[in-house]
Amino acid sequence: MNYLEFIEKYANHPHYKAPRGNELHAKSWQTEAPLRMLINNLDAEVAEDPVNLIVYGGTGQAARNTEAVKEIIRILLEMDENHSLLVQSGKPIGLVRSHPQAPRVLIANSNLVPAWATWEHFEELKSRGLMMYGQMTAGSWIYIGSQGILQGTYETFAECGRKYFEGDLSHKLIVSGGIGGMSGAQPLAATMVGATYLGVDVDPERIKKRLETRYIDKMTLDYNEAINWTLEAKEKGKAVSIGLVGDIGDVLEKLLNDNIIPDILTDQTSAHDPLNGYVPNGFSLAEAMELRKTNPILYKEKSLKSMARHVGFMLEMQKLGSVTFDYGNNLREFAQQGGELNAFDYEGFVPKFIRPLFCDGKGPFRWAALSGDPEDIFTTDRELMKLFPENEHLIKWLTEAKEKIAFQGLPSRICWLGMGEREKAGLLFNELVRTGKVKAPIVIGRDHLDCGSVASPNRETEGMLDGSDAVSDWPLLNLMANTSGGATWVSFHHGGGVGIGYSQHAGMAVVADGTERAADCLKRVLFNDPAMGIYRHADAGYETAIENRKKFELNF
Ligand code: NAD
Repeated sequence: MNYLEFIEKYANHPHYKAPRGNELHAKSWQTEAPLRMLINNLDAEVAEDPVNLIVYGGTGQAARNTEAVKEIIRILLEMDENHSLLVQSGKPIGLVRSHPQAPRVLIANSNLVPAWATWEHFEELKSRGLMMYGQMTAGSWIYIGSQGILQGTYETFAECGRKYFEGDLSHKLIVSGGIGGMSGAQPLAATMVGATYLGVDVDPERIKKRLETRYIDKMTLDYNEAINWTLEAKEKGKAVSIGLVGDIGDVLEKLLNDNIIPDILTDQTSAHDPLNGYVPNGFSLAEAMELRKTNPILYKEKSLKSMARHVGFMLEMQKLGSVTFDYGNNLREFAQQGGELNAFDYEGFVPKFIRPLFCDGKGPFRWAALSGDPEDIFTTDRELMKLFPENEHLIKWLTEAKEKIAFQGLPSRICWLGMGEREKAGLLFNELVRTGKVKAPIVIGRDHLDCGSVASPNRETEGMLDGSDAVSDWPLLNLMANTSGGATWVSFHHGGGVGIGYSQHAGMAVVADGTERAADCLKRVLFNDPAMGIYRHADAGYETAIENRKKFELNF
């Protein structure tokens, strides 16, 4: 098949569908894998808005424009293993000489010199076609749909249950905003931990998408209907998720007036972007979209004020007993800018629940079956359970995931694994490919939200023990470690999760194609990557990370 036939069949904008099966279109699996994963990121089953190349997280894109998508595809189809492709904010800009164990693609997205790192400057560059917002896994081609955040959300709610509700979330109500790409994982995670869930999104289409993929159970436009369903489910201890169309601020106000105080309260609207993400209070969706275009300055002002109001209600609910936490969208920062001076009176989810996992080098390990065959993922599920028979938590998760998660695009799986475990899992997958137990190679990757790959003072590195929250040497070292180790593609982004100016982070993906070369790369990358988390947290003074340095022989 030539390049034009390939585009016609797999990437005819906006109809993207990654090739399946074990036949190569590119010269090797090292280039076939990023090719399939880029196209998969844009598949309508996976991406929120393929027409605009938006994958998730407000405006997180996979490539700068449609010409760039085609050009990246053409290069990946033709490239050999002695070159690496450079991608600058979603646009291919050249090849460099490298070697078969080096990454095939080197990606830098949305990076700005710190003093220029504002949404305003970014938007100006974007309007001139010079940049794109890569979020985390959108621009680094390893987004796998809402499942990508599902286990992290499940772990977070479960830990919240253990910490505040003696491990039992039945008869407990979780309320949150946003039912989009990542935020849409909340309803399913909540029901998986046994809670009742009420989610609010201003855009009915977003909730419908979650209904189709079985991430949410019910949807209504009527507040009273939502409340009746919610209270009944809570009363009966039913794990049901309900999506209500509306503005989250308005709904929280009504809940307060009706004296309905959630047990757990958080938010995942796309607050990281006050202009192209959050929808201000008092506007219909259509009016808001119009204002975005006609008066962006006024829109942003309204957005910040609405976030201040929204957080004001969250703070009131916290006082009335809701366990309240920030869920990684920088809502507190923009609420503070909008006038809510006490916005940071509730903590972020990382210091509250996740940091101990980071100290063990644990983070969101994910993989996708390039064959496109769900059976391949079920095989990896089974083999992982055999590999870690003592890990009950993992076995429970994998068993439930198989039952409850509908795949989006190429079949994939996520589970949090730590130091030592990731390397074992990677080598196991390589063996499954080598012995033909799965039908084609497997791509292993992760979110940039990981133990040693991100500097984000309002999220992953909030409240570090030594105050080093804003030091971004760490993600740069992570990028270099994964490049040296031989990941298949690596990326360094700015602004993911919390928006431009607030974070820097690195991503990686590595392909298990069943070869010796892959085994060598997997051993290095899946050792180095979690080790970075242990180095980072040990250096900041966390005792368990210091012990882990000894345990995993990471000392000099
Ligand atoms: P998304 O853009 O796909 O979805 C956000 C949703 O919020 C949209 O459906 C939008 O309609 C809705 N929304 C906006 N303003 C609203 C309002 N006033 N009231 C009700 N709904 C409103 O984004 P996403 O991928 O779901 O990500 C959501 C946020 O979470 C982003 O800020 C993202 O950066 C952050 N995030 C957090 C994590 C984490 O691990 N905690 C991971 C990824 C993303």
